[in-house]
Amino acid sequence: MSSIEAKTNLLNLDRLAMQEFFLAHGEKPFRATQVIQWIHQYAVDNFDAMTNLGKELRTRLKGIAEIRTPEIMQDQVAADGTRKWLLRLDDGNAIEAVFIPEEDRGTLCVSSQAGCTLNCSFCSTGHQGFNRSLTVAEIISQLLVANRALGRDPKGERIITNVVLMGMGEPLLNFDNVLPAIRIMLDDFAYGLSRRRVTLSTAGIVPMMDRLHTECPVSLAVSLHAPNDTLRSELVPLNKKYPIHELLEACRRYCADSPRSRVTFEYVMLAGVNDSVEQAQELVQLLADVPAKVNLIPFNSFPQTHYQRSSKEAIDRFRDVLIEAGLTTITRKTRGDDIDAACGQLAGQVQDRTRRSQRLALKTG
Ligand code: SAH
Repeated sequence: MSSIEAKTNLLNLDRLAMQEFFLAHGEKPFRATQVIQWIHQYAVDNFDAMTNLGKELRTRLKGIAEIRTPEIMQDQVAADGTRKWLLRLDDGNAIEAVFIPEEDRGTLCVSSQAGCTLNCSFCSTGHQGFNRSLTVAEIISQLLVANRALGRDPKGERIITNVVLMGMGEPLLNFDNVLPAIRIMLDDFAYGLSRRRVTLSTAGIVPMMDRLHTECPVSLAVSLHAPNDTLRSELVPLNKKYPIHELLEACRRYCADSPRSRVTFEYVMLAGVNDSVEQAQELVQLLADVPAKVNLIPFNSFPQTHYQRSSKEAIDRFRDVLIEAGLTTITRKTRGDDIDAACGQLAGQVQDRTRRSQRLALKTG
């Protein structure tokens, strides 16, 4: 192994892991706090700039550690200000992160895997197949790179105020790396985001929802998309493993110890598939005893899909049924679709290892 390969990428370490790293090298654990601040608060990527470390330690660090983010391959800005970065990973894959500016906040949508194994029928990432899970460094780098590019507002506050793990991949199938990355997001010496402002979206990996709840309860979004098992299993094949009643039980457990917390249920609006008034009523019944909010997502198209977006009338009608029943419901605004940055459009460049993309191309081609 060359000396370059042997270096520890400090972006893989949350504070506790960083403390262990310094201890293992005979240094004081408080160095971890200093270095985390340099890396994540000041976006510094060379050890010489870390002036409170002492020259000897800096030289030593250069030999054993590095701060390496993926390279930016593309940086696009949509007409509505949405911005998308394509980041090249070491192994030829590329992933996407999206910044969505709004009046009162700036949200970064972060990917957790190169591709996805779940194969939801309406999702572009699923059609790309799957290569691998991202490392902690690759996940947190998305926030680092985006923060660096966006800078701060005139008051010195960060432009990115919220993070959603809603990009490529299923975050709860990469729990071991997603967890430290979230811890860095929450760390006051790094990004200092509150739990409310970090949202993890899952298709419903039930046992991992419980682990997230125990180990790091951030805001939870669940991709529901259908009011019954028959339809949901068609749209989200994972439903066969964790059917709706188990999923909703897990959602109740997730909210049990904090009376104000609610799960956001995502529901993609597919014309003629899941958007009828009857289905809205069925959804109301289903969510009757779950602390819930609903996000309706107008379907975003991509090549090789046979689905169509529900009409505005259908979406409004559906929403009204939910609201009249007392469910907090919003329709998610479509953002950045002119640069393929909208929900479900993130594809990156995935070296598919599942041959799924090949099979789908044969079927549709
Ligand atoms: N795997 C996680 C994280 C992805 S989040 C999950 O399933 O929740 C991305 C969100 O966008 C999910 O709710 C997903 O179902 C939704 N989505 C996927 N494809 C879409 C499309 N073509 N149009 C609109 N929303 C889509």
